[in-house]
Amino acid sequence: MFETLPDTYIPLLPEVAAFLADPLLPYIDGRYTPPRAEQTFESLDPSTGRRLAQIGRAQPADADVAVAAARKAFDSGDWWLKMSPSDRSKCIWRLAELIEQHTPILAQLDSLDNGKPLETTRTVDIPLAAEHLYYYAGWCTKIEGSTIPVNEPEMFNYTLREPVGVVGLISPWNYPLLMATWKFAPALAAGNCVIVKPAEQTPLSALYVAKLTEEAGFPPGVFNVLPGYGEEAGAALVEHHGVDKIGFTGSVATARKIVQGSVGNLKRVSLELGGKSPNIVFADADLEQAAVGSTWAIFGNNGQSCTAGSRLYIQRPVFEQVLAGMRAETQNIMVGPGMGRQQPNLGPVISDEQLQRVLGYIEDGFAQGAQAITGGGRLSGALADGYFIEPTIFTNVRDDLRISREEIFGPVVCAMPFDDVSEIISRANDTSFGLAAGLWTTDLRKAHKLAKSLRAGTIWINTWGDTEAASPFGGYKQSGYGREMGKEAIDLYTEVKSVWVNTEE
Ligand code: ADP
Repeated sequence: MFETLPDTYIPLLPEVAAFLADPLLPYIDGRYTPPRAEQTFESLDPSTGRRLAQIGRAQPADADVAVAAARKAFDSGDWWLKMSPSDRSKCIWRLAELIEQHTPILAQLDSLDNGKPLETTRTVDIPLAAEHLYYYAGWCTKIEGSTIPVNEPEMFNYTLREPVGVVGLISPWNYPLLMATWKFAPALAAGNCVIVKPAEQTPLSALYVAKLTEEAGFPPGVFNVLPGYGEEAGAALVEHHGVDKIGFTGSVATARKIVQGSVGNLKRVSLELGGKSPNIVFADADLEQAAVGSTWAIFGNNGQSCTAGSRLYIQRPVFEQVLAGMRAETQNIMVGPGMGRQQPNLGPVISDEQLQRVLGYIEDGFAQGAQAITGGGRLSGALADGYFIEPTIFTNVRDDLRISREEIFGPVVCAMPFDDVSEIISRANDTSFGLAAGLWTTDLRKAHKLAKSLRAGTIWINTWGDTEAASPFGGYKQSGYGREMGKEAIDLYTEVKSVWVNTEE
């Protein structure tokens, strides 16, 4: 908790201050439970580097307790066999309503923890998390099997769609509650019992939501939260034989460890990973719209989005014009603490480690001859204690530089010119990632040709970054496997059972 709160900060709500005052504990089997080893870790405010809260540090022994609770809840069938789909739906709907009612509190928690503007968490992130629960509440009563026209005349064959079981949901820090909800909303709707492992940088909102599940009527053990470090609490869930599935969002390097760690019981794994998404501006685009859209395609959420439009290709005749528009838009961006009274457009990056990583890429870019038409360094002065970086647009870059190939996960974009359609398709696809791609054009033929040719799970045309609970989302290539959201996420959290009935008398 803040010891001294600068005048320039929006004051904490009393509920937030009270929540942060005591150490926050793992939520297991319907109650906050001290970790066995009684160790804690700190959650820091990235705007100031100051401590926000002490968190119970879950370790493998605590994962055992959480898995046992979730196993008991699942195996008893209280959530998915004995409770009717309609009642399960109502529990999830009530949780959505409670999250909506607690938006001011949850928005402060995510803003403090992640650093992003309160205005964003209050009007976008938290309402979207509630929206996911409303959407999936509706699915509980609509998860159907099918009847199969089999050839054997006396046989009746049908399928059932059943929950996978106990699922470990490992989420990242860039949209703390929203990313966790992408996973637990469909998993719960499908009847699974969940253990959420929030990122160690941002565990507050998931821990707060835990107590709302009780009010929403969830039986104990259905929803558990295990805060802790990835290599401790996370890895313990990944390796646990009592866990049937892991849903993960994070980096490719961690995903490799997760796939390896999951082999013991061959648990199901779904992965939503990073990207180096190409954003293509054609000369025939609405250039003003393209310039503003491309600015936010990279700088939205400070570049800390797996779909950030970090490789910007602009058709040569309009290269300078689009960049001038982007530079003007960027120079109006206000960067500051997410809880600042004067609400900024962007907050800090998440941690000192991330700050150093991003600055390392910027230095590397300069060393390779890149030029920054805006930005290019850390913000100092009043912001010197936080992890603030200037939004940076690099030109004079090539496709083969590290800054154009690797995911930076910060406010840095590489702008490069291109000449024609076939060239840009092959350059855009020349990446190990495939999460998203986008293009700006008024030519319908070109738009649809590229939508088919670009190898990515989401294509945005004359827009960027849109996602909704109803629309599937996920990656090609090393951006992951499985699709979250939409009905695809119900498939992700269910098994199909085929039932044969001999009707012969
Ligand atoms: P980043 O490097 O950006 O923090 P990660 O992919 O490491 O991204 O983190 C995403 C999530 O994965 C976090 O919840 C983190 O705690 C978790 N995590 C990190 N390492 C492991 C691991 N070895 N096993 C399981 N989960 C992990």
